[in-house]
Amino acid sequence: MLDRLPTPFGLVRGGVAPDHPKIKQVSLTYDKIARSPGFAFFGNVEIGRTLTIEQLRGAYHIVVLACGASADRRLGIPGEDLPNSRTATELVGWYNGHPDYRDRTFDLSGERVAIIGQGNVAGDVARILATPVDELRRTDITEHALAALAQSRIREIFVIGRRGPAQVKLTPVELKELGHIRDCAAVVDGKDLELNAASTSEIADPRSDEAKKNLGILRSFAEAIATSRHRRIVFRFLETPVKINGAGKVQSVTLAQNRLEGPPFAQTAVATSPLLELPCDIVFRSVGYKGIPLPGVGFDDRTGVIPNRRGRCLVGDDPMPGLYVTGWIKRGPSGIIGTNRADSVETVASILEDLPKIRAMPKPGAAGLRDALATQGARIVGYGEWQKIDAAERARGQPLGKPREKFTVVPEMIAAIDAAAP
Ligand code: NAP
Repeated sequence: MLDRLPTPFGLVRGGVAPDHPKIKQVSLTYDKIARSPGFAFFGNVEIGRTLTIEQLRGAYHIVVLACGASADRRLGIPGEDLPNSRTATELVGWYNGHPDYRDRTFDLSGERVAIIGQGNVAGDVARILATPVDELRRTDITEHALAALAQSRIREIFVIGRRGPAQVKLTPVELKELGHIRDCAAVVDGKDLELNAASTSEIADPRSDEAKKNLGILRSFAEAIATSRHRRIVFRFLETPVKINGAGKVQSVTLAQNRLEGPPFAQTAVATSPLLELPCDIVFRSVGYKGIPLPGVGFDDRTGVIPNRRGRCLVGDDPMPGLYVTGWIKRGPSGIIGTNRADSVETVASILEDLPKIRAMPKPGAAGLRDALATQGARIVGYGEWQKIDAAERARGQPLGKPREKFTVVPEMIAAIDAAAP
């Protein structure tokens, strides 16, 4: 298993919110897998920088690409790059201590935030910004994020969906959580929960268990008796941002009001007039991730995935022998952690089907790869060394009452390995 960072676990470490420790427990399963005979971890190895995909294929008969979707989809609207128009990915990476985002800063000095999108990432961003900072202190959120959040003056967080309440992408547990934040009200206008005919039949469909639950939760938000709270999370529906405005930094977002068109489960948002302007101090765009190309492998720029057939990487219409793909870079950035399991089952089935065709010419495997990387002077981080980083992070967290205090820059991680007992 290779990772460009010295740390394994991808989004479990750098994406899952710090106040969701149970979800992170899946890493215990990964630890168990790492104890399997024949398993080797090559951390701090980046395909395209440290190693080419061809070198990797030279070492192994089968290579599975599982590099996820690390870029953001763009809105493609004027003002998108104004100061204080930010991506959810940046904020998530920053509070989770991902080395790529460690040095970002966020202006939390204004009171109004607009989050574009109503998926679980938007929910994470809204929740972290709305939660009293003292409740985050015992999580593994980074100290730099805690310091900035402690100074936050945010009071009102708009979570804006281009479609209606029946199409909210948040999963029910995550949506419900937004109504249980201390000193924060979840606000929905009851009139916004009236559904058109197609959405009514969507909700009546047995496949819509989650949407039905979501609607019930949104109704409970709408019916809650208003009490005075320090913060508010306000859900808005049927609005698409068409422009982000501001002189020097974000001051408002112009929203087109939409209606839904199309049959049940295929309704799209169609802009109608009039436009309205929502004043806000910072915007977080949370409209989904996008894969980025891996040097030496095909890539579909439109969908942001590696073209594949049941997990077999394709060149044109032909499979590339021994090269497979799984997860978000295979099917796009959708689904929760468990969704990737079913996806991997499909890829592994393809591998098993192809095994008899894979020529049994010997390849050097981990030992050969280690030699090649050593010749290049690469500083590989093995699993045992990751465990030293892990132990050092846990030790740093202990006096703070946190499960861990992450290292957020690679040289610090390497130094922690070097400082650990042999
Ligand atoms: P997502 O679930 O695909 O949600 C994206 C949101 O952005 C949707 O509301 C979408 O609306 C909206 N959107 C897309 N393009 C837009 C545009 N041009 N203008 C306005 N709105 C637009 O993506 P995500 O929130 O990034 O999450 C990615 C995946 O990670 C999801 O499967 C999610 O469940 C998972 N995840 C899970 C957890 C968890 O389990 N706790 C936490 C974080 C992430 P439409 O529906 O109209 O497209």
